[in-house]
Amino acid sequence: MTTFADLKLPPALLQALSARNYDRPTPIQAATLAELLSGSDVLAQAQTGSGKTAAFGLALLARLKPGNTRLQSLVLCPTRELADQVAKEIRTLASCTPNIKVLSLYGGVPLQPQLASLSHEPQVVVGTPGRILDLIGHQALSFDALDSVTLDEADRMLDMGFVEAIQQILGHTPRDRRTWLFSATYPASIRQISDALQRNPKIIRVADKSPGAAITQRFYRAEPEAKLDLLTQLLLHDQPASCLVFCHTRDDAGQVATGLAKRGFSALALHGGLDQRDRDETVVQFANGSCQVLVATDVAARGLDIKELPLVVSWELPKDPNVHTHRIGRTGRAGSKGFAYSLVARREEDRFEALRNALAEGAEWSKPEVPLTTSQPATPKMKTLVIDAGRRDKLRPGDILGALTGDGGLHGNEVGKIDLFATRAYVAVAYPRFRATLQRLRATKIKNRKFRVRPV
Ligand code: AMP
Repeated sequence: MTTFADLKLPPALLQALSARNYDRPTPIQAATLAELLSGSDVLAQAQTGSGKTAAFGLALLARLKPGNTRLQSLVLCPTRELADQVAKEIRTLASCTPNIKVLSLYGGVPLQPQLASLSHEPQVVVGTPGRILDLIGHQALSFDALDSVTLDEADRMLDMGFVEAIQQILGHTPRDRRTWLFSATYPASIRQISDALQRNPKIIRVADKSPGAAITQRFYRAEPEAKLDLLTQLLLHDQPASCLVFCHTRDDAGQVATGLAKRGFSALALHGGLDQRDRDETVVQFANGSCQVLVATDVAARGLDIKELPLVVSWELPKDPNVHTHRIGRTGRAGSKGFAYSLVARREEDRFEALRNALAEGAEWSKPEVPLTTSQPATPKMKTLVIDAGRRDKLRPGDILGALTGDGGLHGNEVGKIDLFATRAYVAVAYPRFRATLQRLRATKIKNRKFRVRPV
């Protein structure tokens, strides 16, 4: 078993670790520290609670040049709370190393005191992307001596619309920097940003062994004409916050979505027949909680970047068991529980047998009856508003958030995901507040301009 001493950490860090009662590295620390210390780029999949902060915190501190008082390490976090927490942990780890200044810098507080605190250069900055970009604009941060950049909870930062800000910030940093990316999930968008920002990263994924991380599979017998009724019953019974239904064909996807919508569900179809704008709007609404059920073909669902998905349904079993594994892998992520239901007609039973042989845990039929319920389809928690302005208008997520929570009258927790496109921006707001918010937004200026706003 690896110890911190095996990892050849500087004595002052070992001393701080023992003062903090960290006796042994956690699995993510054991798996990443040697690579981080050696100066490789690292892409690590790690959950909150895994000890990831100390993993990069120890590495960035160990790599600081003794006696050098320049800014050498930048950590980007999605929220102010996380930035504070990370800075605190790094300060504790640095407590036995003399003269280390760790500064946290985030938005929502006046800029002036932060500019003042930067007059004495810190070695480590922990911040949120928007504010760091502002400070770069004020020429308050100099990255010439930067050794490492860490993106913490990178998936959340991407969800919050920070991808552009992150790319701009990294554009100001030296090319020979180390880039460390920590993310709880590993969607396509994380691989893309890794490709854009990292050089030959070591990819490290530590299996999440938390007991909740399990997918419950159920296989229901249903002939094609009975599938919509069964799916309706399953959705009414489970009331999942969101559900992804996989179909083989565009026609099926369209018909199932229409069928569900007629029965009162908020359901949309996603398939190759949509134009780009419709596709964007569909994905945005599903990802931000404005649409409960997305009915998609496997191909169209491939690029979907949805973190928490409590239920996936196979409208029809795929011929290839690997496709099935791929489908159900969409749920039960990041330590949460997931359900995967398959609706299987008689003509698909040979596929079921193939799957039964391929799955380690096998596959059993579930009772065909789902308890009947009289409940109504749920209203989605959020509603999407579209603003006719986007990146080209230099609109940023913070501008929208500011307009909604300031004059817009919403609390921060009533504003959901913000998605920025070149000429449009989508923002999810709490469903019960959307009409009032719409009216107020129409009367408010964003960045001193009035833009057209409407519900999607
Ligand atoms: P994090 O995933 O960074 O949020 O850390 C989760 C918790 O684990 C924090 O409370 C840390 O203080 C703690 N922690 C981190 N590393 C260790 C370790 N090696 N031994 C014991 N606790 C740790």
